[in-house]
Amino acid sequence: MLHKLILFLFFSTYLFATQYSTEAAIILPKNSDKVKQFAAKELQKHLELILNQNILITTSDVNTTSKYKFYIGKNKLFDNIKLKSEESLYIIDKNSIYLYGDDLIIHEHKTPLETVADMKNKTGTLFAVYDFLYNELNVRWTEPGDKGIFYIEQKNLDLKNKKFSWYPTISFRYFRNDIWRWNKLTNKKINMYKYTPKELQPTQQYVDKKEFEELIWKRRMKQGTYAKPAYGHAFTRYWDKYGKNHPEWFALGVNGLRGLEGSKSHIAKRLKLCISNNDLQKEIINTWHKDFLKYKNYNIYNACINDSRDYCRCKECRALDHDFKKNPSKNFETESKTDRYVYFWNQLITEAKKFNPKAKIIAYAYNDYRYPPKYQQLKNDIILGFVPKFTDLPQMTKKALQQWKAKGLKEVFLRPNDFNDDIGMPMGHEKYIYDKFKVFNDLHLVGVDYDRNYNFNNWAYDGISYYILAQAINNPNRTFKEIEQEYYSTFKNAQKDIEKFYKYWRTNFEKNRLAKVEKFGGFRSKRNLYKSIEQFYNINNFIVTNQILQKALRKVKDKTVKRKIEELIISNKHSELLFIAIKNKTKQDYDNLIHYRINHKKELNLSWAMVFYTENRLTNIDGTNIYVKKVMRKLDNLLNN
Ligand SMILES: [Zn+2]
Repeated sequence: MLHKLILFLFFSTYLFATQYSTEAAIILPKNSDKVKQFAAKELQKHLELILNQNILITTSDVNTTSKYKFYIGKNKLFDNIKLKSEESLYIIDKNSIYLYGDDLIIHEHKTPLETVADMKNKTGTLFAVYDFLYNELNVRWTEPGDKGIFYIEQKNLDLKNKKFSWYPTISFRYFRNDIWRWNKLTNKKINMYKYTPKELQPTQQYVDKKEFEELIWKRRMKQGTYAKPAYGHAFTRYWDKYGKNHPEWFALGVNGLRGLEGSKSHIAKRLKLCISNNDLQKEIINTWHKDFLKYKNYNIYNACINDSRDYCRCKECRALDHDFKKNPSKNFETESKTDRYVYFWNQLITEAKKFNPKAKIIAYAYNDYRYPPKYQQLKNDIILGFVPKFTDLPQMTKKALQQWKAKGLKEVFLRPNDFNDDIGMPMGHEKYIYDKFKVFNDLHLVGVDYDRNYNFNNWAYDGISYYILAQAINNPNRTFKEIEQEYYSTFKNAQKDIEKFYKYWRTNFEKNRLAKVEKFGGFRSKRNLYKSIEQFYNINNFIVTNQILQKALRKVKDKTVKRKIEELIISNKHSELLFIAIKNKTKQDYDNLIHYRINHKKELNLSWAMVFYTENRLTNIDGTNIYVKKVMRKLDNLLNN
């Protein structure tokens, strides 16, 4: 009997072993589109890492002897399902996993990679792959590129029956990443060849690689744009087009002149309009009407004001700031300009509705027209994009938004510059940024567009901010604490120490920067960081945090985690040297910093062209930059007048 049992066990094990050739295979039907091709590749890459074996992509399951079969794309199981925009969906049914989603290729590029990297395309099937990896196999993407993939090796997959779906509630969701654009880094302004030391100049190949790694990271975090209206300064070409024949359509300056001659900045594309002028309003409406007749479904009209400063001082425009009732105040520069623009947008939406009942207007609420109107009530169908000041605290923002809501605001989008604050120092602003996002999410948030164009790409420090915010955008109900802990968990045994490290800088940020916002805040916070570095950091900060990291490093054996902690240690040392250089402004201290950068360029991995451009423009880091001294004085005068 025993003999028979052993024989049976042996035989069944033998059968079991021969039944499956591999743990998993991916079935991608012939003629699948590029989104699905890329989805299959991404699934393959991650399964190979996790299972440490080769995973085959085949076109049919006929000859597949793998245990688990992953089916990419449409399947009869999905026949009666109507997908929402960008929706992702997967079903685990015993050993079969079906992955599918709302895909739409508007711009097809040469390769699957380029096609999914284009944010205009919808990539629901790819999101289904990421949702599966995240939910079922605990994969986390803490930074761009393969080195940012956190996973746990498994011998076998152990999957339970399940049906999962997700779709975004925010119709456009992304972080900008102009930092890795070759044309930008080498253009006249950033001028890599002029400012960046030779040893730190990246090659075009490297920059292109980084650009795609960032774009794919964004997809891994399910960023996309299923309905993104065109916005951005709307009247930048008006001076060139109308300036000659209609100077009266442009802002009246303090010198009594209009348009270019009346503005202090003398930049045509930044000119303000004389928005109380009825003929100007008519011309804007005519232009929109023509475009509406030309393009189908053109329903959202861009009325974003050309940036800040140099507002019209004519009697009619000024009266709008005061609802025609009071005398204009003496301090034109500091008073809110919101009422005049709410009046302007109301006029435009009323007229636009006459030719298109579906019309909506999109505009920025920025700088002097950011705070709620006092007299005007906002009409329906005006979407406002907020560019909050870094120093608008979440509680202040919340109050202002409630007032806006009482004045009729319903739909908003968010266009913060907060990530541009990076100067290579630990920021500690992850909770601050999360809290501000949550405040806006209380209204109908249609989009988030976070600028990172003047950022240093400091993933060691800011990765935590990007990660937490990206997860919150996908699922606004998740708490900060929950996502934060998820991030720390990727440091395995050192999790608690890493938590301590980030919390140390967060406390420093809250104590030293938030508490002093009135004094040091404003849009110029980046410049202020350079200017008043000792107000925000001291040498002891780096000694304490280094000790925390050294302790963390001793706890881990895992190669990937070790590498991550080592990068943090090097970033921390770099910040210490940067702090000393900015503080002392001597050639010697600056040279020390440059040597350190060259020796550790691989681990630091910053966007050097942006670093050196910024340091040359905004600070006198080596004590020799007379140009910066001049520019800073000029800017200070301009902003204070
Ligand atoms: Zn005017």
